[in-house]
Amino acid sequence: MTINLLNYDGKGLADLCTGIGEKPFRAKQLLHWIHQSGTADFAAMSDLAKSLREKLAAMAVIELPQITSDHVAADGTRKWLLSVGSGNGIETVFIPEANRGTLCVSSQVGCALACTFCSTGKQGFNRNLTVAEIIGQLWIANKTVGLNTGDHASHANRAVTNVVMMGMGEPLANFDNVVTALDIMLDDHAYGLSRRRVTVSTSGLVPAIDRLRERCPVALAISLHAPNDALRDQLVPINKKYPIKELLASCQRYLPSAPRDFITFEYVMLDGVNDSTAHARELIKLVQDVPCKFNLIPFNSFPGSGFKRSSAEAVRIFREILMQAGLVTTVRKTRGDDIAAACGQLAGQVKDKTRRTANFKTEAMQ
Ligand code: SAH
Ligand code: SF4
Repeated sequence: MTINLLNYDGKGLADLCTGIGEKPFRAKQLLHWIHQSGTADFAAMSDLAKSLREKLAAMAVIELPQITSDHVAADGTRKWLLSVGSGNGIETVFIPEANRGTLCVSSQVGCALACTFCSTGKQGFNRNLTVAEIIGQLWIANKTVGLNTGDHASHANRAVTNVVMMGMGEPLANFDNVVTALDIMLDDHAYGLSRRRVTVSTSGLVPAIDRLRERCPVALAISLHAPNDALRDQLVPINKKYPIKELLASCQRYLPSAPRDFITFEYVMLDGVNDSTAHARELIKLVQDVPCKFNLIPFNSFPGSGFKRSSAEAVRIFREILMQAGLVTTVRKTRGDDIAAACGQLAGQVKDKTRRTANFKTEAMQ
C-alpha cells in the first residue's frame, strides 16, 4: 500500500526509515524537504541518496488536499476551499496582520457537536481529517501566501507565524491526528512554531483537555459563550455532558503546563441571548479563580441561523464590565466578511452523515 508521508511526524518518519534499513536521522532531512522547502517530489531531494529516493518513490507519496477555490477578501484575508475526496471540502483561512500571519486550520469535515450558532455545526458531520489533511493546510498556505499580486501585494510574503485550530470541526474530537499535526507544527525541522503561537480551541471536551495537557500543551482557548449551565446547555450542547464546573476545573489543571499563564475564553456575542450586563457580572463571578483573558466574538450570521449579532454598544458595555473587574478582554475583529471567512461561517462541503443538515433545513423553513 502506498503511504502518504504527510501523515508522519518526526518520530513516525524515523521509525519508517529504520524499517527500510535507513538511518533514523534521514527523518530530519525528509521533514526539511517536505515542510520547509515545500517539496512534494522525491526526485528533488538532492541530499538523499538516489537509492533512497527511489525506495521512497516506490512506497510513498506526498499528497496534499486539492485546492478547489482560493479567494482573497478586500482586507487581505484569504480563504481556501480544499477538496478532501468523496465530494467533501474543508476551509482554511489566512489572516494577515501588521506583525503576524495567523492560519485558521480545520480539523474535521463538519462537526458533530451541533452548537446552535455555528454554521459548521449546522452542516452535520462526515469524518475526521487525516494528519496529512490537517498539516496540508499549513503546507499549502506557506507555499502560496506571498504569491499574491495586485491590490493585495502589501500582504505579500507574510508567512504563517501563528496557527489557531479554529476552523471547521472540534479539534479534540480528532485527538490523535490533531496532536500528530501539532507535533509537526512545533518541530524545528518542520515549521518550528512555538507552543505559544499554536492555539487549540475547544468547546470543552474535558477528558481530551487533560490528555492534551499531558501530550502536547499548546495554548488553550475555551468556547465558553455562557455564564451558567442552563444557557450553555442550549448554545453548546456538549455542556450537558461536561458542565461548566468540570470544564473550569480542567482549565485549572491545564494552566501549570500551558505555554501562557492564562486560558483564553471565547464568548460569542448573541443579541438578547447572552449579552446583558447581568450576564457579564455572572461571568466575572464564574471565572474568578481562573487566570484568563476574554475574547468577545461578535456573532457572524449565516442564512437560517436564527441569531442576531449583539449591537456594538452592547459589546462595548459588556467588555467594559469585564475590564473593570480586571479581566483583559479583547473584541475579535471580523475579517474576510466579503468572502464568508469569519469565525463560525466556514461551511465547506460536508456530505452529512448525521442527518443534521436535513433537520436544520426543515427547521429553517418553518
Ligand atoms: N470547535 C472548536 C473550534 C472551532 S470554532 C470550538 O468550538 O471551539 C472556533 C470559534 O468560533 C469557537 O469559539 C466558536 O464557538 C466560534 N463560532 C462558531 N460559530 C460562530 C459564529 N457564527 N459567529 C462567531 N463565532 C462563532
Ligand atoms: Fe463544532 Fe466548534 Fe462549531 Fe461547536 S462551535 S459546532 S464545537 S465547530
